[in-house]
Amino acid sequence: PKYQSVALILGVTGIVGNSLAEILPLSDTPGGPWKVYGVARRPRPQWNADHPIEYIQCDISDPEETLTKLGDLQDVTHLFYVTWANRATESENCEINGKMLKNVLDAVIPNSPNLQHISLQTGRKHYLGPSELHGKVAHDPPFHEDLPRLEAPNFYYTLEDITFKSVEQKEGLTWSIHRPGVIFGFSPYSMMNIIGTLCVYATICKHEGVPFKFPGTKEAWDHYSDVSDADLIAEQHIWAAVEPYAKNEAFNISNGDVFKWKHFWKVLAEQFEVENGGFDEGGEKMSLEEMMKDKGGVWDEIVREKGLQVTKLEEVGVWWFVDQILGDECKLDTMNKSKEHGFFGFRNSKSSLVSWIDKMKGYKIVS
Ligand code: NDP
Repeated sequence: PKYQSVALILGVTGIVGNSLAEILPLSDTPGGPWKVYGVARRPRPQWNADHPIEYIQCDISDPEETLTKLGDLQDVTHLFYVTWANRATESENCEINGKMLKNVLDAVIPNSPNLQHISLQTGRKHYLGPSELHGKVAHDPPFHEDLPRLEAPNFYYTLEDITFKSVEQKEGLTWSIHRPGVIFGFSPYSMMNIIGTLCVYATICKHEGVPFKFPGTKEAWDHYSDVSDADLIAEQHIWAAVEPYAKNEAFNISNGDVFKWKHFWKVLAEQFEVENGGFDEGGEKMSLEEMMKDKGGVWDEIVREKGLQVTKLEEVGVWWFVDQILGDECKLDTMNKSKEHGFFGFRNSKSSLVSWIDKMKGYKIVS
């Protein structure tokens, strides 16, 4: 066959989906040459359109549509699940996210006889617990993959259980689970993009001539943090898809270094040529969500003035997420298991920060 492997990326315009769509088709990618299908609901955006993949517009929360569109494919060998739905409570999250994954598996497993592997992305909330129980149930960090599940509802557990059950339907079908922390990546369509959101915040501060203030807590400002680069996560997904020793295992995925936000804040301020307002020791806790709630018009004006790609502020400014992440100290994981199994990938988080900012500017999402 012309292709050795056929990927189906669920969430192809997301923060890791877009990285997978860029990396999988490259000629030197392990397991290749790869044919790639990518799924998302919205029409294909311009910043995703250069990737040589087949774009499928499909709402995977709709079982009939999913069965029609994904059941038709028949040649999928590897499934990369990098999507989710965000609801008000964790029990609703369990329900909707379980349905979405099940719809996909029900369409693909019976119709793609060569399906070999399911690569599922979850995250560090596996160890922290859901947002609604923030700070109440978390394990003691650094987090390692052998820790038991928390006694709390968690849609990641639902996704894992559906995956474990599904692979039993087909002899030789394997899985891997990937647990990133906060992701540094590009997608303007992501439901959680910290760099994109901070770039938009910096751009608004610059436009309004006000200092770029750190909206988080002293713990987040001063303590060590770590992050997970979207391309590195994609590399781990692809490694697990082809490496026998990685099959049927869960892996943490983080860059392998630590940093402090007080140092990265300076980098951000420099990149956007805005006055570094730093952390206000005596000030009240700021809420970006509150500060930015009336800035939609200001953003439209910036987009027009600078000739940026047309985006809505509510798409590119995910304020609640940044309030949450910078509202507390970061709890670290360990990459020992990954390394012990042969994945040695890493990133320099500062270079990662700067390169994703460059990409945001390059695609004219911010200036
Ligand atoms: P994103 O929010 O970046 O992307 C989601 C993608 O899925 C988009 O392409 C979106 O496009 C698509 N999508 C959403 N709903 C549907 C649907 N019903 N049918 C088809 N496509 C859909 O995803 P992430 O990579 O952030 O999330 C994947 C996992 O990673 C989640 O479990 C998340 O909790 C976890 N994670 C994320 C972190 C982060 O910093 N982002 C940190 C740690 C873990 P469209 O809207 O057009 O459909």
